[in-house]
Amino acid sequence: MAQIEVRGVSHRYFTMKEETEALRNVNLQVETGEFVSIVGPSGCGKSTLLSLLAGMIRPTQGEVRLFGELLTGPSRRVGYMLQNDSLFEWRDVLHNVLIGAEVRGLDREPARRRALELLERYGLGGFVGHSPKQLSGGMRQRVALIRTLLLDPDILLLDEPFSALDYQTRLSLGDEVAGILRDQGKTVVLVTHDIAEAITMADRVVVMSRRPATITAEHPVRYAAGRLPPTALRKEPEFSRYFNRVWEELKDHVRV
Ligand code: ADP
Repeated sequence: MAQIEVRGVSHRYFTMKEETEALRNVNLQVETGEFVSIVGPSGCGKSTLLSLLAGMIRPTQGEVRLFGELLTGPSRRVGYMLQNDSLFEWRDVLHNVLIGAEVRGLDREPARRRALELLERYGLGGFVGHSPKQLSGGMRQRVALIRTLLLDPDILLLDEPFSALDYQTRLSLGDEVAGILRDQGKTVVLVTHDIAEAITMADRVVVMSRRPATITAEHPVRYAAGRLPPTALRKEPEFSRYFNRVWEELKDHVRV
């Protein structure tokens, strides 16, 4: 059974002035443990799709099912990570990681032990008492990811999580995050406008058209997915084949 099922979903936003059709008849299934990237022109409706999966908005038409059940609001089994790491500057790294656990009212000691374990495991053991200001952009995003992982979601939704970072950081963080998520066996949906990132991180790349967005193509990425880190996959001969194929589809939807 697919862990995520989007069936015939359309979504319109209504404001006092206008109506915007963001999504039209979107159908998508994501299997347990699968890593799916969504690419599409800016403003097409990618974040809208993630908000629907997060249960933050309800579709105007169609339905979203998670774990076989109709989604009617935010689920505890889903974690969401955004472009902005939204760390609190007045809390140290450990206490930033613990925020979600506190809000959820989890037992303090086990949560703290697991937070320390995750920070250690993913290279932040020496920064537990640091304030976010003392960290690089890439480290901050890792802290934000660990905060999400602490709640042990089955599904992770990532909305352009690397786009605020410089190119080098983006590449190395991509390797780290892909490694962490595969290590944790999570189901992941990543929204990105970066074709190379989409291809090298995911098992499948979903291409969306411009607004009203619908899914125009899906590409299973069959070369070495999950075995090599994304930066190594960029050097494989098949990489440019995948890149060109996705770009050919995408460029028809991008107005220059
Ligand atoms: P993307 O993530 O692909 O850049 P979005 O999902 O953010 O696109 O937006 C899709 C379209 O819906 C855009 O035209 C955007 O202006 C519009 N939109 C997004 N959120 C709202 C909202 N809360 N109210 C009205 N329109 C919105």
